[in-house]
Amino acid sequence: MKNSLLSQRDLAVLWHPCTQMHDHETQPLIPIKSGRGVWLEDFEGNHYLDAISSWWVNLFGHANPIINAALKAQLDNLEHVIFAGFTHEAAIELAEKLVAITPAGLSRCFYADNGSAAVEVALKMSFHFWQNRNQPRKNKFITLENSYHGETLGALAVGDVALYKKTYAPLLMNVITAPSPDCYFREDGESWADYSTRQFAHLERLLQENADEVCAIIVEPLVQCAGGMRMYDAIYLKLLREACDQYNVHLIADEIAVGFGRTGTLFACEQAGISPDFLCLSKGLTGGYLPLSAVLTTNDIYAAFYDDYSKMTAFLHSHSYTGNALACRAALATLGIFETQNVLANNQVLAATMKTLSQRFLNHPNVAEVRQTGMIVAIELVKNKRTREAYPWQERRGLQVYRYALSKGVLLRPLGNVIYFMPPYVITSEELALMFDVAWQAITT
Ligand SMILES: *Cc1c(COP(=O)(O)O)cnc(C)c1O
Repeated sequence: MKNSLLSQRDLAVLWHPCTQMHDHETQPLIPIKSGRGVWLEDFEGNHYLDAISSWWVNLFGHANPIINAALKAQLDNLEHVIFAGFTHEAAIELAEKLVAITPAGLSRCFYADNGSAAVEVALKMSFHFWQNRNQPRKNKFITLENSYHGETLGALAVGDVALYKKTYAPLLMNVITAPSPDCYFREDGESWADYSTRQFAHLERLLQENADEVCAIIVEPLVQCAGGMRMYDAIYLKLLREACDQYNVHLIADEIAVGFGRTGTLFACEQAGISPDFLCLSKGLTGGYLPLSAVLTTNDIYAAFYDDYSKMTAFLHSHSYTGNALACRAALATLGIFETQNVLANNQVLAATMKTLSQRFLNHPNVAEVRQTGMIVAIELVKNKRTREAYPWQERRGLQVYRYALSKGVLLRPLGNVIYFMPPYVITSEELALMFDVAWQAITT
C-alpha cells in the first residue's frame, strides 16, 4: 500500500530521466526504502537484486559500511567549499591518488560533477589547447559510430545513439563519425582482434584526410555501453594511440562507465598499454554514492593554459559543486577499498562464474551472441538466430524482460534487445546464479 501511495505522489509532481512518463500508467514505479549490498528493498518488503549497479555506478554495494563511515566523518568537518581560490584535503588527496593510479603521463586532475560535464570539459580543453597553441583550424572531433558520451549538447553531439540524439540534431555541432570496431559485426570465424584491426583502417583514413582540422578523437575504451554493451578488441586502442601521435590529434578516453575495474583491469586503457591525453571518470568513482567526475590530463596540455593572466589563455570553466568535499571523500573511501581488498583478483573469479553461467544462453533460439568483457556480460536477443534479424523495436522485447525479472526480484534493465549484467563487485556466486536464472526464464517462459 505504501508503495502505491508514494508512487501516486511521485507521479503527480515528478518527471523521471530517460522515461516516457505515460508508461507509468501501466508500469508501476518502485519506491525504494533502503538498500544493503546488492539488494534494494521497497516499502512492502519486496527485494530486488541490483544487477545493473543502479545505472553502472555502484561498485561495493548499497550502504557500504566503509564508505558510510568515511562520509559521516567528513560531514562533521566540511560539506563543501568554493573550489576557486580555496581547496581542501579530500580533493587534494583524491587528485594525488587518481594521478598515481591512472595510466602514466596523466598528471593533472580537473573536477566536475557528472559524466556529461566531464566530457564537455575534455572537449573544451582539447579545442582550447589548439587555440592556445595557435592552431585555430583544429576545431572538429572524431567519434565512433554507436558511441555514447552523455546528454548535454556537446556530449550528445559526439555521441551516436540515434534514440537520444536524432531529435536534437539541429542543435548539435558537426562531428566526423568513424565506423565502429564493434565485434558483433565480425565475419564468421574472424577474431575480435582481426575485426577491430580491419575497422581501424576507416579511422586511419579519416585522420589522413582531416587531421589538420581535428582536435581530438573520443572513444569508450573496449565497451560501448549505452550503445548496447557492444565490445571490441584492445588492439584498436593501441593502433588509435599510435595514429593520434602520428597525426597530432588528442585521444580522449571516456572511461566513465568502464573505469574502476569493470573490464578486468582498473582502467580499460591498461589492456592496450596506452595513455590517453584526457581520461574522463565518473559513475563508479564515488562507489555510486554522490555525483562527481574527474578529467585527468597531461603536463603538456596543462602547460598550454599556464601563463600570465593578460595572455588570456586560462581555462575559465567552472561548476558550482566542483570538488565537492563529500563526493571526494566517498571517492577516497572507494579507492581505499581497491587498496585494501583484493578487488581485481576477486572480480576475476566473479567474471569466470559469469562466463560459466552465461554459456547456456548460446544455444537459445533467440540469442545471437553472448559477449563478455570482465564484469560485463551482454546477451543479444534476436527474432531470427540465423539471419540475426532483430526484434522490431515496437515490440519492446527488453521491457518484457525488465517486467518479468522485477516480478522475480531482479533488477535488469535491457538496452533495447540487449540483456546485460553489470553487478556490484560484492555480489556472491549464488546471487549471480539467481540473476542469470531469472534472465533465462524471462526469455524462455
Ligand atoms: C553515463 C555515461 C556518460 C554520462 O555520464 P552522466 O553522469 O550520466 O552525465 C558519459 N559517457 C559514458 C561512456 C557513460 O556511460
